[in-house]
Amino acid sequence: MKIIKQPNNIKFGLGAAKDFSCPEKSLVITSKGASSRGWLNYTNLEKQKCFHDVEPNPSLDTAKKIISNFKDANIECVIGLGGGSSLDVAKFVGHKLGKKKILIPTTFGSGSEVTRIAVLTVKGKKTSFHDDEMFADTAIVDPHFIKNSPMEVIKNSAVDACAQCTEGYDSKNGNEYTKFLCNAAFDILEDAILNEKYENLPMGSLVTGLGFGNCSTTLGHALSYVFSNEGYSHGHALSFTTLAAHQFNSSKFKERFEKITKKLEFERIYLKQDLMIAAKSVFSDRRHLDNNPKIVSKGDIIDILKQFKI
Ligand SMILES: [Zn+2]
Repeated sequence: MKIIKQPNNIKFGLGAAKDFSCPEKSLVITSKGASSRGWLNYTNLEKQKCFHDVEPNPSLDTAKKIISNFKDANIECVIGLGGGSSLDVAKFVGHKLGKKKILIPTTFGSGSEVTRIAVLTVKGKKTSFHDDEMFADTAIVDPHFIKNSPMEVIKNSAVDACAQCTEGYDSKNGNEYTKFLCNAAFDILEDAILNEKYENLPMGSLVTGLGFGNCSTTLGHALSYVFSNEGYSHGHALSFTTLAAHQFNSSKFKERFEKITKKLEFERIYLKQDLMIAAKSVFSDRRHLDNNPKIVSKGDIIDILKQFKI
């Protein structure tokens, strides 16, 4: 038997976030600059309680701090507004506080608004938490937010979406439905990136989330986290690690994925830490490796990581 899970309500299209009336007593979880970028004003959330200090690659401690600060506050729902980091913290906090969750992405790549996954840093290591209770009650995807996004943000998010749908397509946990979604997502993303039709990235990212959220990413993501831990952004790391994974897996997406990363012009990444320690860390990530289409040995990981040593 195969199961597909997704939020009960997904609202999308230009103006979706502006038109949505959020519950009166909400806690908005977002990052610095939400106000100056006009996000709070656009969504009519200026008067709500707000935590606006979610950092990139957010830590579990940040989530715990919010839970402790707001556990006795009179709020009906938790609203995640921002990139994947803010959404991941919001869904974790909303779940732990037992509140409704509304997720509004302002960058488009993580697909976090429609998945049951939150990635938080625990003791310096990116760790993914999976729970059906972390699904948004309502996900709102509004391409309005892409208009003022810096190119650096757009390209990092876009390559994450491409990595997620292609790794998801290849995942052993996949099925006809997830393959259909991941394939469709990649077609949309590829066209949007190569032809610079960035307004179509939100739809590509949404369909990616619905696809990979039901089958998980694989080797490319497992490899990427050692680079994230060294300070590379998620998308930047993936532009090389997912390509290496596609090479290893003989993925049908290898050439098309490579063309996209060339178009987006990422600088080469390097591994600073000890090769064996990095390989051990990657090899322990069973959540991403057990569903990889090919069995991956520690030796395989060492061989792949070697190419990133200076
Ligand atoms: Zn990702």
